[in-house]
Amino acid sequence: MRLQTEINAWLDLPEKQFSRNAVLDGHQIACDCSGLISLLCDRLTVPKPYGLESPRAVHYFAILQEIGSNHISQLKPWNLLAWRKDNVPKTGDSGHVLLVAGEPERVDDTTYRLSVIDATRAHNGLARREIRLHTNLKGHLIGVQLQLSKTKVKRTSIYHTPLLSKRYCLGCGLPLKLCLCKQVQVSGFDSSIVILRHPDERRKTLSTVSLIKQRYPGILVKEGEVFNPIRRPNLALVFPDFDSDIDFSGNKRIAYEPTALDSQPELTTPVMLDATWRKSKRMLHDNDWLRELPLISIAPQSTSNYLLRKVPGPNSLSTVEAFALLQEDLDLQKLLTLFMQKQIEVMGKDIYESNYRDFINYTPQ
Ligand SMILES: [Zn+2]
Repeated sequence: MRLQTEINAWLDLPEKQFSRNAVLDGHQIACDCSGLISLLCDRLTVPKPYGLESPRAVHYFAILQEIGSNHISQLKPWNLLAWRKDNVPKTGDSGHVLLVAGEPERVDDTTYRLSVIDATRAHNGLARREIRLHTNLKGHLIGVQLQLSKTKVKRTSIYHTPLLSKRYCLGCGLPLKLCLCKQVQVSGFDSSIVILRHPDERRKTLSTVSLIKQRYPGILVKEGEVFNPIRRPNLALVFPDFDSDIDFSGNKRIAYEPTALDSQPELTTPVMLDATWRKSKRMLHDNDWLRELPLISIAPQSTSNYLLRKVPGPNSLSTVEAFALLQEDLDLQKLLTLFMQKQIEVMGKDIYESNYRDFINYTPQ
């Protein structure tokens, strides 16, 4: 297998170093964790996340979070595995990405030894070594011990997927037949918006958050039903407060002006929920701190353009549309339209017509 041959040859190079700028020649390999994976992608002609020349660990994580698994039973040799920091510094570590080099070996009910290949400062760059993964009792990955010489276990979300996937594009995190790599350009800055996603959303054929990531690959997306308060300044909840049985009468209302994440110290952090209407309300019920946040309301100008989903009313928008509206990003709006066209094309216009004719947002193709 070419991947193994390449990586073994690199492990045999006489000089290995840790470096933020990747260098590979017949004599040496110098790289950091994401640099190593990017060298591999280039060598194997696998597209790199979001068309970025030098993606960071957070960008690999962004893709794996969409197409990967967080279960130990799915973890196979030559998968990519990654996690990220919630607050990513401008330079330096944004998280970690590595290559799985063996089957996980069970230590006890919730701990596994794993042989990996990665590049870290502690090991002077590229090395084959061992880490420990921690799971909950259901087998979902919840933590990692990166250096066995230290006892510290980092608790974090971890995802993994085969580096050479037959179903998904590693460049955009979408099914290969719906690949958008050539049609999208990453926005020049990251958005301060944080998305809390219900686990059911990702299991659908498509979470529209995947589209948001095409433009804002560093966006913080947390998956779950109950969350600790996010550690970011001036949190505010994005939620339509019309026709709702949640009492928001005591909440302050604020307007949101989209700005670049790093240009304003007193930035507002909008928090969006990615879930069905019913589950969003449930999430608010289960997370007191969310219910108490100031409210950002958005007023949709037209009916949802997410044609393949039943919208509950003329005022309800998909997550990607609400995001685009808030961020005033027309390119993201257009991306959804393009993506819907692609999906309908793959499905067949006749099928779209017969299955979706009764939706309030049905649009003849
Ligand atoms: Zn793609």
